Parts: sequence; structure tokens; C-alpha cells
Amino acid sequence: MKLVTFTQSGATRIGIMDGEGVVDLSAAAPDLPTEMCAFLAAGADALASARRAAEKSTARLALADMTLEAPILRPPKILAVGLNYRDHIEETGMKTPEIPMIFNKQSTSVTGPGKGIHVPRASDQVDYEGELGVVIGRYCRHVPKNRAAEVVAGYTIAHDVSVRDWQIRVPTFTMGKSFDTHCPLGPYLVTPDEVGDPHTLDLKTWVNGELRQSSNTCQLLFDCFELIEHLSTSFTLEPGDVISTGTPSGVGFAMKPPNYLKPGDTVKIAIDKLGELENPVVAEPENTVRM
Ligand code: ZN
Repeated sequence: MKLVTFTQSGATRIGIMDGEGVVDLSAAAPDLPTEMCAFLAAGADALASARRAAEKSTARLALADMTLEAPILRPPKILAVGLNYRDHIEETGMKTPEIPMIFNKQSTSVTGPGKGIHVPRASDQVDYEGELGVVIGRYCRHVPKNRAAEVVAGYTIAHDVSVRDWQIRVPTFTMGKSFDTHCPLGPYLVTPDEVGDPHTLDLKTWVNGELRQSSNTCQLLFDCFELIEHLSTSFTLEPGDVISTGTPSGVGFAMKPPNYLKPGDTVKIAIDKLGELENPVVAEPENTVRM
């Protein structure tokens, strides 16, 4: 099942996408929460009601009549992993980590499919990182890896846009990984039954149609379930948390000379079973000042 967050006629809500369009859950199952994190927190019963409602409903909204948003508009946490693909570790020349190298992206960095990725006024070293995103489906702590699949709501494409100079000039990645618009998510959240094994998925990234990253999630050093075990040792994971599992080789930073994104570029990421996430790159608009 493909869960989406969309805006139509000024209202943002959730739905289920199938081959014919989008079932508006606020109409088909009005008792369910209309926001994705609340919907996921409502658990398996809510998911089953949504599935039944979608099967019964004949009404579909056309994709052309709506704006698809990030499936999770405001994840409680966005946890990301550095150096988690064997081929990417090789290209950076770094040592293979023995423990996952975890950092946060701020939840305000999320943006949706088709929305502009800003080249900020503060830097011209903006880089792409196509990644598999794991979305948590329930409150959990101390999850052993052999049961980690139980806490996964689904998978989505995550774009870990990175501002390289801000990322590496101090010891922590927080500032360089968290600029507004630097976490495109989507286009939908695909439930595990439809994805199957998350560790056999091809992942590709194109810039202006040129293939830059081409790998498979079998290259993950720490897999999705090991990451859940590791993270939940320290803190509670919550419905809607996104774990961005790391990027394979082929980032612009590693090219010789480095090849960063600039306004006018388009980045497209495709992952098997998860669709395609495409975003244009734009200069940070003047109107981002807010006080
Ligand atoms: Zn990354």
C-alpha cells in the first residue's frame, strides 16, 4: 500500500494511492486521523480500516488535481547515517566505521516531491545524497534487530542534501545537513508488505538526467534492522521518525573536481518499489528572512 500526504483545495490530508489515483481517507474513512504521524500512531487497526476503506471506495482524486507533499510533513526525528555503503566508504577514503555514525537532520528541513532545493546564500557547496528512508510506525525502545521489522511503518525515498563546507568545518554535521528544504521525502510511504526485503533494492540518482549514483541496498554496512536496534538502545523511536540509511558512492563532493548542485539543476532519485523523487535546485529566495 502506498500512503501519501497531499494538498487539495487548500486542505492537507492523507490518502492511499493506487493505479487509478488517490483515495482521500478523510472522505473514505472519516474517523481516521488525517495527519500521517497521528495515523501511524493509531496502529494496526487504523491501517486495516484504511485498507478496507480504500478497497470499498470507488472515488479517486486525480494526481493532476493535487500537490503531493512529503509523506511525513514533520517527522519527530530525522536520523541519518554517515558512511553506511561500502562503495561510498571507498570513494571517501575513510575508515570503515565499527559503530554506525549517526547524525540528525532537523525536522524543519523536510520538503516534498517537486519542491525546490535551496542553494543557500551561505554556501555554494550543495550536494545530493540519494537514500533509503525507513519510517517508524510505533513508539519503541530496545528493539532487537530480529524483531525490528515489527516497528517499521514503511519505506520512502529520502534525499539527504548536504552543504559540504558547513558539514565538515566543525566536528558535528548538524548545521550542514539541516538547511531548510534539504530533506526531500517521498513521493509516498510504501508499506513493508509491498516492499518485501528492504535490502535488495536498486537505488539510483540522476543530476540533469546524468546517472551519478547506482547501487543496491545490499551494499548497506549496517542494515535497516541493525540501525533500529542501535538507535533504540539510546532513545525511544516514535511514529513518523525517519531513518535515512546512508548514501552510496557517486556524490558530487567525491568527483574530481567536486561537482556541486546549482540553481537550474534537477535531481531525481529512484529506488525499486518506492518510485521516484524529483526536485529542482533553486537559489534561496529573498523571502526566507523571518522574524
Ligand atoms: Zn546521507
